[in-house]
Amino acid sequence: MATPAQKTEGQRRYDLIVVGGGMVGASLVRALAGLGLRIAVAEAFPLAAAEQPSYDDRAIALAYGTREVLRGLGLWEALRPAAEPIERIHVSDRGRFGATRLRASDQGVPALGYVVSGHSLGQALLGGLADLPGVDLFCPATFESMRETDHGIEVRLRLEDRPLTLSASLLAAADGRESRVRALLGIGAREWTYGQTALICNLHPAAPQARTAFERFTETGPMALLPMTGGRYGLVWTLEDAQVTALSALDEASFLQRVQQRFGWRLGRFAQAGPRTAYPLRLLLAERSSGPRTLLLGNAAHAVHPITGQGFNLGIRDVACLADLIADARRAQADLGAPQLLAAYEAQRRPDQERIATVTDALVRLFTNPLWPVRMTRALGLTAMDWLPPLKRGLAHRFMGLDRASPRLSRGLPVD
Ligand SMILES: Cc1cc2nc3c(=O)[nH]c(=O)nc-3n(C[C@H](O)[C@H](O)[C@H](O)COP(=O)(O)OP(=O)(O)OC[C@H]3O[C@@H](n4cnc5c(N)ncnc54)[C@H](O)[C@@H]3O)c2cc1C
Repeated sequence: MATPAQKTEGQRRYDLIVVGGGMVGASLVRALAGLGLRIAVAEAFPLAAAEQPSYDDRAIALAYGTREVLRGLGLWEALRPAAEPIERIHVSDRGRFGATRLRASDQGVPALGYVVSGHSLGQALLGGLADLPGVDLFCPATFESMRETDHGIEVRLRLEDRPLTLSASLLAAADGRESRVRALLGIGAREWTYGQTALICNLHPAAPQARTAFERFTETGPMALLPMTGGRYGLVWTLEDAQVTALSALDEASFLQRVQQRFGWRLGRFAQAGPRTAYPLRLLLAERSSGPRTLLLGNAAHAVHPITGQGFNLGIRDVACLADLIADARRAQADLGAPQLLAAYEAQRRPDQERIATVTDALVRLFTNPLWPVRMTRALGLTAMDWLPPLKRGLAHRFMGLDRASPRLSRGLPVD
């Protein structure tokens, strides 16, 4: 890795500056690595640090379409041993008759998706990142501000308490939900808060059902159990804020008992629980995803409720789209920060971002509503879905990320 101290003034001009080395920023860098671009990445946390927010032990469900992108990035083979395929998803409403089962075989794919830990995903994305040709990693370095100049965009970072200025043709902001880049651009966001928190924890059940995920809607909120390698399950339990505080304080045995009460015995007795982490939930959709020579990607543009496990899957589709546009611009020797490129990104990504945000919001409201007519409707909805394969296929394809197949990476192809 080239350290900042080794750089000279002349080396500080880049084609692209990526702010944020989380899942989305790192994916973008990997996607572009073969294009011969000069890329600077600024990340606030040491990438291997335990407090790195993007790569904790949370279970991440990767849609089948995301696997295709990771294949295009040349990362899938390394990640595969840590990825548990989901061949079946059992969706049910606790104490109600409605249930639906999504099966990979009905969709004509080997798996509906795959579950990896954020940690394994981080290892695959970050391994050798700093050694990629043309890539300079500034880490830990904090993005502070940017300004448009006659020839590009100038970005100010703070690195080890020293200011550092870099310039580039384009700034890609993957700096997460609280994006400073978005704030400085004055881009507002539509936000929904739910007064809910997701409690995350990995569990060891006595009778794991291989390759089967469970989404269970309970009176207190939806509970997802995602199969992980080694017979573990990743629990994502969405609860009222106050309940999470109480559950977090329980000892392990009492906590497992509560999970068992809510989930039932389909997986046998839950014997062991890993550390519990709480994530307050809200949904955020930026009013737009671009500013002068700047684009927003991933959580900086949209942060959705984890109920449908769509956040990273949506973010990586931003990456696939932008990588295609940059590769084409590079071939045409065009300016990467040209308004046409920014407009094309906005036009291509907006519908998908809006749709996932809207559908996720609707699902959260539907499945956390305690009123009996709503519960009845959703129970009937789940049953109807089991009887109506085309409806189910539409839902499965949407969440598998298969209905946006045009970018090269989404077809498992590299962009270079
Ligand atoms: C409980 C939970 C479960 C989830 N499950 C799933 C799932 O099953 N499937 C799925 O697809 N998604 C899931 N997600 C969503 C997924 O984790 C996010 O979509 C993903 O982490 C977004 O990545 P990102 O890189 O855009 O943002 P982040 O992960 O937030 O990364 C942003 C990065 O930018 C850095 N940064 C921020 N500010 C600055 C600055 N000023 N200067 C420099 N660096 C900065 C941060 O340090 C960080 O590394 C889940 C999320 C949660 C909370």
